[in-house]
Formats: sequence, structure tokens, C-alpha cells
Amino acid sequence: MKTNYYRDTWAEIDLDAVANNVAQMKARLPEETALLAVVKANAYGHGAEQVARTALANGATWLAVAIFDEALALREKGIKAPILVLSPIRPQDAGIAAQQHISLTVSQKEWVEEASRFHTGEDPILIHIACDTGMGRIGIRDRQEAAEFVEAVQKDKRFTVEGMFTHFATADQDDEAYFNEQYNRFEMMIDWFHELNVYPSIIHCGNSATTLKYPSEKRHLFNLVRYGISMYGLSPSPEMEKKLPFPLQRALSLYSCLTYVKKVKAGSSIGYGATYQAAEDEWIGTVPIGYADGFLRALGGSDVLVAGTRCPIVGRICMDQLMIRLPHAFSLGTRVTLIGKDGNDEITADERAQKMKTINYEVTCLIHPRVPRVFK
Ligand code: PLP
Repeated sequence: MKTNYYRDTWAEIDLDAVANNVAQMKARLPEETALLAVVKANAYGHGAEQVARTALANGATWLAVAIFDEALALREKGIKAPILVLSPIRPQDAGIAAQQHISLTVSQKEWVEEASRFHTGEDPILIHIACDTGMGRIGIRDRQEAAEFVEAVQKDKRFTVEGMFTHFATADQDDEAYFNEQYNRFEMMIDWFHELNVYPSIIHCGNSATTLKYPSEKRHLFNLVRYGISMYGLSPSPEMEKKLPFPLQRALSLYSCLTYVKKVKAGSSIGYGATYQAAEDEWIGTVPIGYADGFLRALGGSDVLVAGTRCPIVGRICMDQLMIRLPHAFSLGTRVTLIGKDGNDEITADERAQKMKTINYEVTCLIHPRVPRVFK
């Protein structure tokens, strides 16, 4: 599965690692709990189609994306598994979703009324009711809203309530007080819907953090988990890193090559703003990756690996290239590791995230589509 490309920078995706992270998780879940692979945002930068196929071959039975176009793209590639769109779509597109058997996240009665008007066909509109138990993003919040929503849904027989779910705001943190509050509220909301005669067959709340914390507890997982970041081998937070129930295998590495190597005289400046001056005569290498590739300027001053040795990025990172200080001359084409292992050392997405004052999710999602993905 190698894509043709003509540049010296690429992201390598280890699909065996994805397979392992899915199979290990699935093996720990209660028998009746299904695994949904979250492949939104091009599978967190890893390649949606390839990750989706790998997850489905290793224990996942559902997929989720964030936006409708992502779901349609998977259908166009021939993926037939159930897909849930996690964010609201436009009501005028409900008919296309129905035709394509794509399940939708819904929680507003106005949406239901509009979708009912727009959809002219017979295909059922499959919906998962979003419940806002404390995330404050989307979803039903009170009982009155639930009753009005159900009334709207029941006016049109083409609506099929397939599922209901909530999303936790703090599942990856050590302090579980807010998580428990959300969980208890979700149980109460399930009761509201039962009282309104709505019995969704699929109930879900667990993201990676919840699933890794309570892998075998039906009480916390119900009958489906939404497994995202850890499918890619990354911990949901630094706090959870030491408490994982099995070792995760990191799936993404980011590589480039030296395209220019030169010795500069002491005092020479490097890069925009001339912010770096060589302290002595120095070997400087140029690497064809920059902030337009998602390798942000905030990473200036951090290291890359060349032949297993850490080399610092010097000067400002440009749009398409950056410069590094080398211990000695290297030949053109020598591999440079920006994320991943080289020799006995490794630079992780978490190390990059720390330098960028962000989270590992953002590091892999930011890798631009112009960086080819190579699957192994
Ligand atoms: N469910 C929803 C609604 C989400 O928005 C996300 C990710 O943002 C996930 C599940 C997956 O979360 P994680 O990647 O932490 O497993």
C-alpha cells in the first residue's frame, strides 16, 4: 500500500500497531461491548481509510467521524460498516445519510422537524441522541427538552433511534469527581428516555480514557465504546501513561531527509530574523519540512534524530524547510526522524506536544495532507 510521491518527507503509519491496539482493547471488553473506531480528521492524521479497514479487521464493528463528508468519503471507498457522524450535520442532508446508511448525532427538535421536511425518500434516518451531561458542547440537557425532542421524532416513522450517548470532559484526569457526576447524570437521562418509551439499542459513553480505565466494566461502558487516540498508540493524557492496562504501540512516525549540508563560519546567521548565530564553525543541515506541513514554528529549538543522535533545530522554522546543527558532515539523503525511533532514541508525539504546549492529539492531526502517508 505505497502511495506515489515525490518529496523527501513522509509520515509512516504502522498498521500492525493499530491492529494490535484494537485487538488488545477488544479482548479486554465485556463480550457484549462493541468497539467503534474513531477515524475522524483523517484518523487523527493517520489515514482514515487504511485505519478504518485495519480496525474493522481486528475487532471493531463500528466507525465514527466528525463530519458528514468524512463519512461519505469512507462509503465511496467501499466501506460498508456502520458509521456514526459525531457532530450535527445539516438537516437538508439527512436524506443522503439515510440512503447511505450513515447514523447521525441528533439532539434538537428543530433539526428533526427540518430533516423530516427535507427527506423525501423512504429510507430510515438512523439517529443517536446526544446527551449533554457536562461537556457543554452538544446534546439534550433537561427533561423537558428530552420530551419535546421525542415528540418530534415520533411524528415521523422514518426516524429510527438507534443509540444514545454522552461524552466525558475529564475522563483522562486522575480526579474522578466530575467524571462520576457526568456518569450519574447519563444514567438518569437514560431513565428519562425509557420513561418516554424510547429504548435505544446502543448506549455509549466511553472514549479511550474511560475504556482503558474500566476495560471490563459493563457499568461504565454499556454496549459500545468510542476508541480514538489509543487506537493510534497514544495515551489520552500524560497522567494515564503509567496506568495503561496494556502497552500501546505508537503507529505514526514522521521522517524527512537532508537536502543540503554545509559548513558555516563562526558567527554566521541562520534563518528568518537571523535569530541564530553559529558559535563556532558548524555543520548545518537543511530538512524539507516546515510549518505548512504542520511542523509548527513553536518547535524551534527542539531536536530531531540523525543516525540515532539528537540534533537541535536552529533558527526559525520556515514554511517548507528547517535547519539543524549536525555534529559532522552527513551525506545528502540521510534520514531525519522528526517523530519516531532512530537507534536507541525516540522522539514521541508527546514530546512534541509538550514543546508546543498542547496535547498529542493536536500533533498528529496537524500533519498536513501534503505530507504523504506511507503504510506498512
Ligand atoms: N467520542 C467523541 C464524541 C469525541 O469527540 C471523541 C474525540 O474527540 C472521541 C469519542 C474519541 O476520544 P479519544 O480520542 O480520547 O478516545
